[in-house]
Amino acid sequence: MARIVMKFGGTSMAGIERIRHVSNLVKREAEAGNQVAVVVSAMAGETDRLVQLCREAASLYDPREYDVVVASGEQVTSGLLAITLQGMGLNARSYMGWQLPIRATGHAAALIDHIEADVLEGVFEQGGIAVIPGFQGVTADGDLATLGRGGSDTSAVALAAAMKADRCDIYTDVEGVFTTDPRIVPKARKLRAVTYEEMLELASVGAKVLQTRSVGLAMRYNMPVQVLSSFEDRPGTLIVGDDAIEEMNMERQLVTGIAHDKNEARITLTGLPDRAGTVAAIFAPLAEANINVDMIVQSVPRAGKPSDLTFTVPTASLAHSVAALEKAKEEIGFQEMLTDLNVVKISAVGIGMRSNAGIAAQMFQTLAARGINILAITTSEIKVSVLIAEEYTELAVRVLHTAYGLDDTGEAA
Ligand code: ADP
Ligand code: ASP
Ligand code: MG
Repeated sequence: MARIVMKFGGTSMAGIERIRHVSNLVKREAEAGNQVAVVVSAMAGETDRLVQLCREAASLYDPREYDVVVASGEQVTSGLLAITLQGMGLNARSYMGWQLPIRATGHAAALIDHIEADVLEGVFEQGGIAVIPGFQGVTADGDLATLGRGGSDTSAVALAAAMKADRCDIYTDVEGVFTTDPRIVPKARKLRAVTYEEMLELASVGAKVLQTRSVGLAMRYNMPVQVLSSFEDRPGTLIVGDDAIEEMNMERQLVTGIAHDKNEARITLTGLPDRAGTVAAIFAPLAEANINVDMIVQSVPRAGKPSDLTFTVPTASLAHSVAALEKAKEEIGFQEMLTDLNVVKISAVGIGMRSNAGIAAQMFQTLAARGINILAITTSEIKVSVLIAEEYTELAVRVLHTAYGLDDTGEAA
């Protein structure tokens, strides 16, 4: 007997037919003698629709009320799944975030503080199945809170940690984690396993198959996570620690995956004075406005000559960034501010980079051979990212996928 969390995403829950299919998957696990908690997302497209309604109601909506509206999609699917499971003769019941409770702080992108396991322990003692809406928690004031887009993954992993589950299965609309988004590159290959660290980097640079925070939590609690399809009955991808990967003795490429992120905007400040404190004067007002700066490139000034600085911010923060910098223009002393939304960040990730030089050089050469200009670069121990013009997104991902030997050749990964 194992204790498991099964999480089903929006496409898996889109309509009664799909919910019936999900019920069969849950039934199979329960009848195999497992203790099961199920976490569900809203039906595909529903959260987008609810977010849009909030925007139409008022462009500067109150985040507390936003949470009340957008959390409702998951309430519908959890109730419907419980009804369907009951209809199959199973002892299932839904438990809203406030009923467990799932304690959280903040609104719109709330953080989970703590989940109590007592209610679930009681359910399992009675041989029951708990169905829990993902994406939601309850604040200290008793208000609904939501966990940011894609947050049901985080609900699932947090719940798995709280109930000391043996594993957390994330069912989605693709068969696992691929070497890149399989909807962009048909030659993408399903990975049998990735490390927490690689998945954390991949998710944070745009592989939205898992919410980044869910991977961070899984890593912290050493929770085995499996990403698999609710449509096909095939093995998915295991997300595990470094040791487990080595034990699996897998033949690994130096690069594990490639991701892209269009959610970046570029800002360039020209004519910056060559003096101590210029860079600090630029980033202080941005930090104050709570804006996350990602990539940074500074042209090296020749003594006493002005220089340029380029950096990126999330697309949604561009307007606020421009306003904050305009306000500080005199103190910073820049000449011109240029902005560009038509950029994309392309990243290659792999633990193989730790021990192998040349991955970045290969990226630059591959892009140069296609005439793709690089606007900014960042690297970490296991990642290289470049900023390029958005129009080259698909081309860049495809040629890099081939260059790093990731294309599906029909053999197992
Ligand atoms: P769910 O509704 O099940 O949470 P999401 O849409 O959030 O599903 O995540 C699944 C999607 O993630 C896939 O349909 C795929 O297009 C996208 N994706 C991006 N990068 C990858 C990758 N490297 N491997 C698998 N899927 C990816
Ligand atoms: N329904 C929420 C969203 O679309 C949460 C999730 O599906 O993970 O962002
Ligand atoms: Mg998702």
